[in-house]
Amino acid sequence: MKPSEFEYHAPTTLAEAARLLATLEDAKLLAGGQSLMPMMNFRYLMTSHLIDLNTVSSLSSIEADAHQLHIGSMTRQRDIELSPLVKRHAPLLREAYQLVSHKQIRNRGTYGGALCQLDPSSEQPCFTAALDGMLTIGRFENDAVQLRELPMAEWAQMYMTPALEEGELLVRVALDIWPEGHGYAFEEFARRHGDYAIVGVAALCTADARGMIDRLSLTICGVAAGPVRLYEIEAALHGRAMDEDSIRFAGDAARELDVMTDAHVSSDYRQHLAGVLCERALRTAFARAQRQS
Ligand SMILES: Cc1cc2nc3c(=O)[nH]c(=O)nc-3n(C[C@H](O)[C@H](O)[C@H](O)COP(=O)(O)OP(=O)(O)OC[C@H]3O[C@@H](n4cnc5c(N)ncnc54)[C@H](O)[C@@H]3O)c2cc1C
Repeated sequence: MKPSEFEYHAPTTLAEAARLLATLEDAKLLAGGQSLMPMMNFRYLMTSHLIDLNTVSSLSSIEADAHQLHIGSMTRQRDIELSPLVKRHAPLLREAYQLVSHKQIRNRGTYGGALCQLDPSSEQPCFTAALDGMLTIGRFENDAVQLRELPMAEWAQMYMTPALEEGELLVRVALDIWPEGHGYAFEEFARRHGDYAIVGVAALCTADARGMIDRLSLTICGVAAGPVRLYEIEAALHGRAMDEDSIRFAGDAARELDVMTDAHVSSDYRQHLAGVLCERALRTAFARAQRQS
């Protein structure tokens, strides 16, 4: 199939892209095209105007300050995976990206495109929630780009629907940097390597001077429209030992989660995966934190 007819626009600045989005009727943004182009080719999606963000170079960047990593929405997934800054400050991302589709798709696919596509099983919203992501959203108003910030926790409105208003685009994302030597792990179950996860879990932890859990982040994807931070488990494990009892406690609690069911697998099976994957992710994250402390 071929896409329906559309007019192509190639802005070179964020302001131009945002202005086009605000003024053109029935316009769609093109990032890596890995999800959008198949939908257009199958005519699941038809648009009158396609605004290509690939020509807006300011949207591709990876920078770090003392507290956060800042990643532009058009940054290619493979560039994030291979970035030395990311390896140093957020090794969880590198581990997660090795599970995201295939190299060829990661070469074109962008971080922002995946967040906007918001597949419930995608690893990328999951690690963004795990690292308390803060999203910067832009819109053209009063002759300039106006920016607002939104925490990742408020990004998923419903199934594959991010909290973007008409005329808004995702500009960049800030992710918290955890202390050097923190434990981390991304575990998932997918039907084949490179498929979306059926369920995935991101874990991060630090140990205090006695080796007890000082800080914990546990996030699960594939169970609801957006990633779910398991705050109750995080709080319950604070101050406890990094041992098999804590791991079992988290696994048992995850097996009780209220999870979705769909054409792929039942909710019972998702709950089983949630438990097993939480245990695996914590076991690896604890071991890494203990090795460093
Ligand atoms: C075979 C295959 C396997 C895959 N497996 C996985 C996987 O295991 N895990 C995973 O996470 N992903 C997977 N993907 C998806 C991949 O990560 C895509 O790259 C991603 O979903 C979309 O990113 P993109 O840059 O290609 O965006 P596009 O396809 O260009 O855009 C996706 C949507 O986001 C909108 N959009 C893009 N950028 C912005 C922006 N800045 N502001 C507002 N809206 C925007 C577009 O208008 C469109 O609606 C897979 C894809 C394929 C084809």
